[in-house]
Amino acid sequence: MSSHDVVLIPGDGIGPEVTDATCRILEAAGAPLTFDVHYAGLAALERGQDVLPASTIEAIASCGVALKGPCTTPVGDGFTSINVQLRQKLNLFAAVRPVRNLPGVSTRFDNVDLVIIRENTEGLYSGVENQVTPDVVMSMKVATVTACDRIARFGFRFADQRGRKKVTVFHKANIMKLTDGLFLRCARQVHEAEYPNIEYEEVIIDAGCMKLVQDPTQFDVLLLENLYGDVISDLCAGQVGGLGVVPGANIGEELAVFEAVHGSAPDIAGQGVANPLALTMSSVMMLNHIAETRNDTACREAGGRIKAAYNRALADGCLTRDLGGDLGTTEFAAALIERIERIEDMS
Ligand code: NAD
Repeated sequence: MSSHDVVLIPGDGIGPEVTDATCRILEAAGAPLTFDVHYAGLAALERGQDVLPASTIEAIASCGVALKGPCTTPVGDGFTSINVQLRQKLNLFAAVRPVRNLPGVSTRFDNVDLVIIRENTEGLYSGVENQVTPDVVMSMKVATVTACDRIARFGFRFADQRGRKKVTVFHKANIMKLTDGLFLRCARQVHEAEYPNIEYEEVIIDAGCMKLVQDPTQFDVLLLENLYGDVISDLCAGQVGGLGVVPGANIGEELAVFEAVHGSAPDIAGQGVANPLALTMSSVMMLNHIAETRNDTACREAGGRIKAAYNRALADGCLTRDLGGDLGTTEFAAALIERIERIEDMS
């Protein structure tokens, strides 16, 4: 069986704890992966490297796939977000974030099953900020036809291929008539010309937030520009148990980096209580991606074993602290590994 080289970026804060747990789960499931560890963010600075070392970028470009822990970004000043830089430099233009209920994790709604598709390269994340006078600063929101059309195509193709019924764009084109107006225009064109079979709706984002809180089950695929995608991801995570259970992928034409939606959680870093599940679920997305793009059934099977194990563990009441339980990071990983071994014994 051939093994796939994958770049592993442990990240900052809880990053090393959740990546370590996830790697042990992947190994137990027999995932045919060989990790090449590289650093970014504070972890790179601590090793005397650049904040985003060229060697990390080159390794991802060469392997094609990376599993990444969260990286801390200083608030207000300091270096530009590593996460944003990585997505822009590697042209990982689409973030895919499935938000679903899980067994044993009780929330207000039982049948949430939506996918956030976030534009990852522009909008207010373009990093164009100016000090106009000592008392006036400004940030520029950038939208291009290239990026808006590309993410619209990605979102509708994703919906079509996965048998999804509806794409909803959240926007504020009543105020940002040019930038959000362009995002809407591209989505409408792609819908009308190529995917009339999929229901399409446009919702002004403030009302969209109310609807998401009142009943998230009314949504299927959410197509969002960069900042809205960032904020709405956390809101949706809150509907299914929190940031500990929402995975993600950053996808480009050639490359893909898989990471949880959550950040480096400095408030709980080093305590051994972080939930590794969001990163573990991201690693299952990675295995499925490798299976699809390289036609490797061993990756799909390993992903299936991990998914069955975490569903079973959660249903059995194995919960970390964020979900109301008392398991630590390594104990939760051990509960999954035990169930993976049981699945292996039964097969
Ligand atoms: P955060 O997601 O790190 O934490 C928000 C809250 O959720 C905290 O209370 C935290 O303890 C909790 N939480 C998050 N992940 C958890 C997990 N796996 N298990 C249990 N609890 C969890 O958001 P923040 O505090 O706003 O940001 C902290 C840092 O992370 C910042 O520097 C931010 O820039 C960075 N960040 C990085 C990424 C990324 O690397 N992709 C994403 C978001 C934020």
